[in-house]
Amino acid sequence: MTLLEFKNHFFKNLKSINSQNEIEEFFFWLIEHHCNINRMGFMMNSSFKLSIIQTNNLFKSISLLKKNTPIQYVIGETEFMNLKFKLNNKVLIPRPETEELVSWVINDDNENKRILDIGTGSGCIAISLAKFIKNSNVIAWDVDKKILSIANKNAIMNNVNILFELIDISKVKSDRKFDIIISNPPYVCENEKTKMKDNVLLFEPHLALFVNDNDPLFFYSRIIDFARLSLNNRGKIFLEINENYSKRVVKLLKNAEFQDIELRKDFRQKNRMIKACFK
Ligand code: GLN
Repeated sequence: MTLLEFKNHFFKNLKSINSQNEIEEFFFWLIEHHCNINRMGFMMNSSFKLSIIQTNNLFKSISLLKKNTPIQYVIGETEFMNLKFKLNNKVLIPRPETEELVSWVINDDNENKRILDIGTGSGCIAISLAKFIKNSNVIAWDVDKKILSIANKNAIMNNVNILFELIDISKVKSDRKFDIIISNPPYVCENEKTKMKDNVLLFEPHLALFVNDNDPLFFYSRIIDFARLSLNNRGKIFLEINENYSKRVVKLLKNAEFQDIELRKDFRQKNRMIKACFK
């Protein structure tokens, strides 16, 4: 089968499920991954003959996409801050708004700092910080060994040194100091599920997404409590937040005596991230 023949087959199979633009994006994502051919390569050589292995992989991808599997899980890889990350459905697909949070930290004069990432998932935050901030010393926590093993693979793949630890923020005692604490904890309420798309709900890990409606700030109170005891003087905290709870997170920070609290919107104009300084 040639690449062009596969393309026609691919479009025919997905057109009842996805928009034309999405199908095109998926197609190029897949052929790049399985055949190492980009858009330009496709235009120059659409009569390229697929090997049996490539054909098998590409057909398997069609059946996964038909079930609404996110393309990032189909190929087991994604990009974040221009770096490659392996992932599976134990970890969240990194979001563009989290790139904005990470860029904030990178552009905030944070060289030579000891940084802690709480709830690291794929490791995308910790690894990007280690990669782009000079002389950073990065530690990253998560609650599941399998998640940490994905994050660890990503750190090796991106050639950075990070200390990964199996630690649950709801149980940990403060026993060392950090200069920066960052986290993108679960913050979507169960009652927001109705607004969410199937490709998120059915495939992404609920452990990383959801919190109980009765205690939407569960992780924020734990993290802020811990940060109060574990940040050096003039240490900073950076948090990704649920846009509906920005005021309440600011209040938690004020009550914990944080200062210079700064709230920022994401590219969708939603209140999405907060920075605060400790004393
Ligand atoms: N931003 C993610 C979403 O919209 C949620 C991430 C999180 O809960 N930390 O699904």
